[in-house]
Amino acid sequence: MLKLYNTLTRKKEVFESIETGKVKMYNCGPTVYDYSHIGNLRTFIFADTLRRHLETIGYEVRQIMNITDVGHLTADDLSQADTGEDKMLKASRREKKTPQDVANFYTEKFFEDLEKLNFKKAHFFPRATTHIPQIIKMVETLIEKGLAYEKNGNVFYDVTKFKDYGKLSKKKLADLKENARLEKHPDKKHGYDFALWLKAPKEHLLKWKSPWSLGYPGWHIECSAMSIEYLGETMDIHTGGEDHIFPHHENEIAQSEGCTEKEFSKFWLHTRFLLVDSQKMSKSKNNFYILKDILDKGFSAMDFRFMMLSSHYRSSLNFTWDGLQQASANFKKISRFISRLQEFQIKSEEASKIDPKKYLEYFDEAINDDLNTPKALSILFEMISEANKEMDAGQLSPKNLALLKNTWNKMNSDLGIEIEKKKSSQIPNEIIDLAEERVQARKEKDFEKADEIRKKIGKEGYTLDDMPNGTYGIIEK
Ligand SMILES: [Zn+2]
Repeated sequence: MLKLYNTLTRKKEVFESIETGKVKMYNCGPTVYDYSHIGNLRTFIFADTLRRHLETIGYEVRQIMNITDVGHLTADDLSQADTGEDKMLKASRREKKTPQDVANFYTEKFFEDLEKLNFKKAHFFPRATTHIPQIIKMVETLIEKGLAYEKNGNVFYDVTKFKDYGKLSKKKLADLKENARLEKHPDKKHGYDFALWLKAPKEHLLKWKSPWSLGYPGWHIECSAMSIEYLGETMDIHTGGEDHIFPHHENEIAQSEGCTEKEFSKFWLHTRFLLVDSQKMSKSKNNFYILKDILDKGFSAMDFRFMMLSSHYRSSLNFTWDGLQQASANFKKISRFISRLQEFQIKSEEASKIDPKKYLEYFDEAINDDLNTPKALSILFEMISEANKEMDAGQLSPKNLALLKNTWNKMNSDLGIEIEKKKSSQIPNEIIDLAEERVQARKEKDFEKADEIRKKIGKEGYTLDDMPNGTYGIIEK
């Protein structure tokens, strides 16, 4: 039974999908005016792990991640309020490229990172600039419903008209009124209203025709418009970094639920901040890292993925190079263990006590508990330690050897770790059961039955390798 912490209710809840066996998930994706930093990547690794686990437990997942290729509307975004400048245009000037070329370049780089980090690709990565008609239509609906207003070619959402405003972030309008960081716009009725559409200044390069002005959309509206386009009016899970709770996700709810009058997402999951050397990452502090910085220091993308899995997604993570070194050493322990399993020669089947199925059960329990990956990894390391002892003593039985390989493969379907070169082969439990049955038949001197089982195993694509002491190995043909 999977439990997830829902930011909406501030509780761990049993996850049940709207449609049996299917999950609709939306992840707020990157803004492509720069490389994704390691804090962004942490959030995406969490989304990937969640997708993997949902699939492991049998769901068919439809995963959508947007690519924001329109500049942020900085005046309405608290987290950007210090700059007051469109980041896409700023990047375009910095790199002497058109905004489209900037977006294409960083989108490509983002996909390269996903590949290196062994992500399962989302089913679709919709881009804001190719969904302007859907965005305009949604803004029109919000105006018709009296939730938004136009002034001088600009359209704002009237936050006072949406009764549930603040339900995700638990903010109250009265508190927002006091917030000095909300930037002013002469056409806004209230300071906390946010822009849906803005009239473009002359020098603005990205602009589209609309019923209100030649302009461009606010940041929040793209996620509402694109998620409804690809997932329908209500989805199962929406994810993002904790900095998205307010204003971005709060505003997505206001827009989407204001339009459809239906619940927008059943579950809201948020990843906590990643700090670097206990400080907020920033370019001015020289502690702003991207995946390339990690690779340049001789670490692998898997070292980084492993490090991210070593902390719970709802705990803030302090990134240090020493921490990455430690994660890398731990990751090597797993790699060595997998190689050892591949090469291990059975010597005897006496006294093998390890119970890989039990470890898998505990591992699943940990992951099902709001994706507790650090606990799951500690269970994996306990298993590795016990298995290594049995291998050292030559005690590991063929059955347990095969079960250990299976257990690792099953655990790794959640973790998504790529072990270089030698891949662990997957021998189904049914084949192991048959092999065990055959050992029994041979003990009972029922050679006819033993032979039949060998043929049956052969038909399934595996070969049994008999050892002189009565044990066996299973090889995939
Ligand atoms: Zn979003």
